[in-house]
Amino acid sequence: MTRNLILVLGDQLTPTLSSLAAGDPTQDRVLMAEIADETTYVRHHKKKIAFLFAAMRHFAEELRAAGWQVDYIRLGASNNHPSFTAQLAAAIAEHAPTRILVTEAAEWRVAQMIAGWAARFALPVGVLPDDRFLCAPATFKTWASGRKQLRMEYFYRDMRRQTGLLMDGDQPAGGQWNFDSDNRKPAAPDLFMPQPPAFPPDAITQDVLALVARCFPDHFGDLTPFWFAVTRADAEAAFARFVQQALPKFGDYQDAMLTGEPFLYHSVIAQYLNCGLLDPLRICRAVDAAYRAGRVPLNAAEGFIRQIIGWREYVRGIYWLKMPGYEASNFFGHTRPLPAFYWTAATDMACVKAAVSQTKTHAYAHHIQRLMITGNFALLAGIDPHALHEWYLSVYADAYEWVELPNTVGMSQFADGGLLASKPYAASGAYINRMSNYCGSCRYDVQQRTGAQACPFNALYWDFIARHRDKIGRNPRMAQMVRTYDKFADAERDRITTSAATFLASL
Ligand SMILES: Cc1cc2nc3c(=O)[nH]c(=O)nc-3n(C[C@H](O)[C@H](O)[C@H](O)COP(=O)(O)OP(=O)(O)OC[C@H]3O[C@@H](n4cnc5c(N)ncnc54)[C@H](O)[C@@H]3O)c2cc1C
Ligand code: SF4
Repeated sequence: MTRNLILVLGDQLTPTLSSLAAGDPTQDRVLMAEIADETTYVRHHKKKIAFLFAAMRHFAEELRAAGWQVDYIRLGASNNHPSFTAQLAAAIAEHAPTRILVTEAAEWRVAQMIAGWAARFALPVGVLPDDRFLCAPATFKTWASGRKQLRMEYFYRDMRRQTGLLMDGDQPAGGQWNFDSDNRKPAAPDLFMPQPPAFPPDAITQDVLALVARCFPDHFGDLTPFWFAVTRADAEAAFARFVQQALPKFGDYQDAMLTGEPFLYHSVIAQYLNCGLLDPLRICRAVDAAYRAGRVPLNAAEGFIRQIIGWREYVRGIYWLKMPGYEASNFFGHTRPLPAFYWTAATDMACVKAAVSQTKTHAYAHHIQRLMITGNFALLAGIDPHALHEWYLSVYADAYEWVELPNTVGMSQFADGGLLASKPYAASGAYINRMSNYCGSCRYDVQQRTGAQACPFNALYWDFIARHRDKIGRNPRMAQMVRTYDKFADAERDRITTSAATFLASL
């Protein structure tokens, strides 16, 4: 008889996971399953499904090699069920465990499901904390309570003190907490661009690729070339290569965008972190060590560590603080449907085309493309934030609701009214032109504000300011733009309104 039935979810691929640490390979059994409902509650990118199933299958082998009995239920197998609950019911009937063990789910939707199991199965269900994160939801709640504003910067400083990363005693290394102002250089095409390593699919991954091609032909995105790491060893090799080749320039070019360069100096590791192949604290310690050894400059090490122990932990805290309900936020009341070019890349806007095309190919776009191209466009065009949230959740290999939703709804769409971001990330074409070389090859003219040839971001930007002046005029960081708009002549304001309306009507 099985003592504990340990359910390991698809983003829990970590051998030191709390549920496994609490179990015993000689008495307990692990259940892992490729669940149809999880692949289609939004229609995930083909590469994302393949990545997760391949990583899960390799992890199941890793557990077996470590002595665990693992029931791994493949999609399409006769004993496969479409939901976690149905799959678990079948496993309980087969093994008659005395208890279910599971590490807490990262997403509210799955946590709700788990919360119903004890009553449904009349069995004790042990839900253990996910200690792969550095800040538990309850700790974040305590940090947040009583604060007027939940700014990431102050949370981040506490995380630096808690972890000791980049700390010299009780002071930040280099005497400064944040070097972001050094990190805004535009990139030049003649710079050497390191590429993330590509891992040829082995037999296990080849099987998964065939399955995904067969079962998900209508999902967005290209299945091949498939180059992601699907084992811990390969994910660690990819990270080591990033530290060696790209990290030294990560800070300088963090906000840059270049035609034909999807990765620049980014790490391309979020998909590995978020499913548990990489450990956040461990990689931050490696970056701290590289800085101490003089191999990477402080602005790069600090910028990278801030993304992980700052932003990543902070957005998770916001997610659990505000769910359920956060997904329905819509501060500006935006309702426009998502334009078809978010799926097809069929647009004359060179910047949007580049971001969507590489998303289709790689299930990846870097942060500034997500925030300042696809996110910024949606904000200016008044796209329904929930439709946009479902798009981001579907198309990126690293997308899970706990991290994607606050980034989309809070950071990129300001749909929470400023809980997460201190101002809307709205920008005209001038910003995109400064940080990229997209405009040079675009059919639109970034210098023109209105008219058929003008960059659509320009009229949309000023139209956004005009439409929402009551809501954003009170924001000290936006008030200047409202005043600038007010100084435009009436005829120019009319041209802005007409240009924006004509463009939006064409979507
Ligand atoms: C609209 C929008 C949606 C996003 N959706 C997701 C998502 O679904 N999943 C996801 O992991 N990230 C998301 N992000 C954050 C960020 O864009 C990605 O983490 C990053 O682009 C992943 O690429 P990378 O691994 O090369 O990151 P790098 O630029 O190399 O950064 C290093 C790591 O820092 C972490 N990080 C950086 N910025 C953030 C952030 N804002 N929030 C959380 N972690 C961060 C990631 O783990 C990332 O791997 C989103 C951002 C925006 C604006
Ligand atoms: S001109 Fe406008 S639409 Fe074209 S690439 Fe530049 S910012 Fe994008």
